[in-house]
Amino acid sequence: MNKLPEDHRVIARRLDLLHFQEEAPGMVFWHPPGFTLLRVLEEASRAASAREGYVEVRTPQVLRAPIWAQSGHWEHFQDAMFRVGDADVPAALKPVSCPAHISIVNRRSLSWRELPLRIAELGLVHRDEQQGALCGLLRLRQFTQDDGHIFCEPHQLVEEIRRFCASIGPFYAAFGFDRVEVGLSTRPPARLGDDAGWDFAEAALAEGAALAGLHPMIQPGEGAFYGPKLEFVLIDDAGRRWQCGTMQVDLVMPERFDVEYVGRDGARRRPVMLHRARYGSLERFMGLLLEHHQGRLPGWLAPVQCWVLPISAEHEPWAEHVRATLAAAGRRVELRPSDQSLGRRVAEAHQQGIPAVLVVGGREVAARSVAWRQAAGGSSPTPLEEAVARLNALCRCPLEP
Ligand SMILES: [Zn+2]
Repeated sequence: MNKLPEDHRVIARRLDLLHFQEEAPGMVFWHPPGFTLLRVLEEASRAASAREGYVEVRTPQVLRAPIWAQSGHWEHFQDAMFRVGDADVPAALKPVSCPAHISIVNRRSLSWRELPLRIAELGLVHRDEQQGALCGLLRLRQFTQDDGHIFCEPHQLVEEIRRFCASIGPFYAAFGFDRVEVGLSTRPPARLGDDAGWDFAEAALAEGAALAGLHPMIQPGEGAFYGPKLEFVLIDDAGRRWQCGTMQVDLVMPERFDVEYVGRDGARRRPVMLHRARYGSLERFMGLLLEHHQGRLPGWLAPVQCWVLPISAEHEPWAEHVRATLAAAGRRVELRPSDQSLGRRVAEAHQQGIPAVLVVGGREVAARSVAWRQAAGGSSPTPLEEAVARLNALCRCPLEP
C-alpha cells in the first residue's frame, strides 16, 4: 500500500509492449505483445457487451462539419479536434462516436419493440491535447474508447442504469481492481434542458445505483452541461484514484438530432439516451493495469502466459511438443531455446512477469511430463495433460460465465 509504483512506461519498455516517437506525439506504436494485450481488453469489452445485449457497430473516422455543428462539438470542442481537409468541406477526425451512433439509429423508423436499443463501438478517437499534457498511455491524442449508447423508453431508464451498475463491479474485479468508488455528478450552473428533465435524470441515476447496491457520493454541480452522470473511480494498489467508467443521461442530443420512436399508441416519442463506458480509454486503462500489477498481470491478461524452457538442445523436440499442445489449447505460449543458461531464462521469465514457467529436461522427456516452476523456487513434476488443465485454469477469464 502507498508504495511508489513503477511507471507504466518503464514496465511497457521492459515487456516490449509499445513505443512512442516524435513523428506521432501521443499516439502508440504497438509491438506484438502490447497489441495482444490491447486485443484482450477489446475482447473482454466485446464479450461483456454481447452478454448485456449490445449490438456492435463501427462508424467513420472522419466526419464533416454539419454533424459536429448539430451535436454542439463544433461550438464547444473544436479546439480539441483534429481538422482535416475533405474536398474543401471542413471536417474533423471524430473525438467521440456518439453522433455517428445516432446517425445509425435515425436511419430507420424505430419502434418501441426494439427498445432498449443498446449500441457499442470500440471507437478509435482523436483529441488534440497539448503536447505538454501528454503522459504515456494515461493521456494520448489517439485512443480507443469503449463507447456505448442506450436508447430506451423513459420507464426503462432505471432498469438500464441498475443493469450497468450491477455489472461493472465484477468487470473491474476481473482485472484485479476490487476497490471502486461511485460518484453522482449533478446539474451544473450552466446547463441545457429544463429542470424537470434534470430532476428525472438525477433521480433515475440515484435509484438505479441504489437498486444495484451502490451508494454514490453526490458531487453537486459536477455534471456535464447536457446531463448528470455516475462516475466509477478505481482505487489502485498504491491508493491512487482513477476515474474510468461513466454512465450519463443525455438530455440534449436526442432533441438536437430529433431522435424518435413509435410508441405503443402509434405516437412519435423521444427516447431517453444514455452514454456509458467501462474503461473510458482502453490505452489509459492498460496504463493503470500495468502500474497496479507492476507488470505481473493475471494469467488471462498476460500477453505471454507461459514459457517452455528445454534444459539443453536434446530436450527441444519434447519442449516443442509441449509448446504446440498448450498453444492448441488456446494458450499464448513461447519456447525459449537453450542458447542461454536455464538460470538466466528463469530470471528473465520472472522479470517479464510470465505467469507459468515449464522446464523440460531428461526426466521430463522420459516421463512425457514438465517441471512446473514454483514462484518461490523449486518445481513440481507435472504430467503434460495436467499441465494443460492447470494452465487453462490459471488463465481463465473470470468474466466468462
Ligand atoms: Zn457518447
